[in-house]
Amino acid sequence: MGKLIDRGSSGPNGSHGLGLHLTCPRLGRFEDSDPGGAREDSTFLTRGNLLHVGLAHWYAHLAGWEGYLSPSAAIEAYAERHESEYNAEWMDRVQACLLAYAAFWGEEGGFEVVDIEKKVSFQVRGPDDTWLPYTARKDLTLRRKRDGKFFVVDHKGTYAVLPKVVKSYALSLQMLGLQRLGRAQYGKQFGGVLLNFIRIPTDPTKDFEFKRVPLPHYPKAVADVKHTIKQAHTIRERWAGCDPMEVPGVYQEACWGRYGKCSRRHECIGREE
Ligand code: SF4
Repeated sequence: MGKLIDRGSSGPNGSHGLGLHLTCPRLGRFEDSDPGGAREDSTFLTRGNLLHVGLAHWYAHLAGWEGYLSPSAAIEAYAERHESEYNAEWMDRVQACLLAYAAFWGEEGGFEVVDIEKKVSFQVRGPDDTWLPYTARKDLTLRRKRDGKFFVVDHKGTYAVLPKVVKSYALSLQMLGLQRLGRAQYGKQFGGVLLNFIRIPTDPTKDFEFKRVPLPHYPKAVADVKHTIKQAHTIRERWAGCDPMEVPGVYQEACWGRYGKCSRRHECIGREE
């Protein structure tokens, strides 16, 4: 059997792990005391995971990396390894989407693949000159052949590609972290972050859609995000070692958010629903 690129989590210092402390201190504490437990199985998450795995293997194939599973075999192997009640719903659909993606973007002849699903841990200089651990995960890095510029590509499975979706990502901790990393790694040769939108409609009779959009660069926010990272670490340290239910819950929309219910909601309300 060939090798499987299994991207895994970015860990406690990734944008997701740190972001949980900012979203809800209690949820962040739940995650620290039971890593991975704060992730709810959802149709969005499953679709995204299968798509990322398929894309990773497609680009491994383009890069000529030897010994890796084909995209379709990788999707099957990943679904076998990571059970989800939504795997059956998405496997065929994601496979079909990848075929259409490969036909649409072709062999990406103007670029070369630099890395795939790469996690990079680094230190961000905090507001008080202390160093704060942070882990960024790059879905894909491409180098443009004509000028040698590096682009960090972030795959986004979506139901619609709208300007407001781009704006909603632009100021996320994840994207600001990628902007910082790209500039630190490649300096003037950094071409920016590209959002690689892949629209997979739920209705199988509707077409897939592919679009790449440069992420707007907001230098003030990129410089300022050190305060946000510091705040997340401060909240984590404040409640370290506590029983999660002793930590204040946020009781906001996050309890039932954009991607469904909070995975710890039942503990806050004392019952399943
Ligand atoms: S249900 Fe709400 S308050 Fe409870 S852990 Fe989740 S986000 Fe926090």
